[in-house]
Amino acid sequence: VETRPVLEMPVKVIIIGDPGVGKTSLIQRYINQKYTDNYKWTIGGQERFKSMTRVYYRDAHACVIMFDLTQRGSFLNALKWKNDLDQKCQLPDGSPVPCLLLANKCDIHEREVDQTEIEALSREHNFIGWTEISVKLDLMVDESMRFLIDDIVTRC
Ligand code: GDP
Repeated sequence: VETRPVLEMPVKVIIIGDPGVGKTSLIQRYINQKYTDNYKWTIGGQERFKSMTRVYYRDAHACVIMFDLTQRGSFLNALKWKNDLDQKCQLPDGSPVPCLLLANKCDIHEREVDQTEIEALSREHNFIGWTEISVKLDLMVDESMRFLIDDIVTRC
């Protein structure tokens, strides 16, 4: 029996985006296969982008930027998050950290962002891709993380 060598490598994936978009829920879903509707009040109008420190970004292999399809402000801030990331963190070879754009809460029908503008943002700002997901209904969660990990692996 021929055995193929298996290489294991810990990867650091950072998840950023405005408060309330579903980042904690994504981690719970992906890591613990759990979802809880711990309802959080969203306060309209406030500035929700708050840049992260370089220490937080350091040595990241990949990044997820998440927004909420029902909160337009969180979509507009996705670009601020991307710029913050690119200013503060690069891969060891100097290239930008591969970044996936996730449009969460596609289970809700009242949307404030349409697919054409997500596609445009993704293309114009060099995301590796984007998809709609629902952490609540477990739609596209595993698939999107698989896509991100495949991207990391092909760069190794
Ligand atoms: P975070 O601040 O980005 O970590 O956001 P949370 O994970 O705490 O989620 C904020 C709120 O959105 C919580 O009440 C979640 O239950 C809810 N939420 C998260 N994902 C979804 C989703 O896919 N659909 C819906 N309808 N609600 C979601």
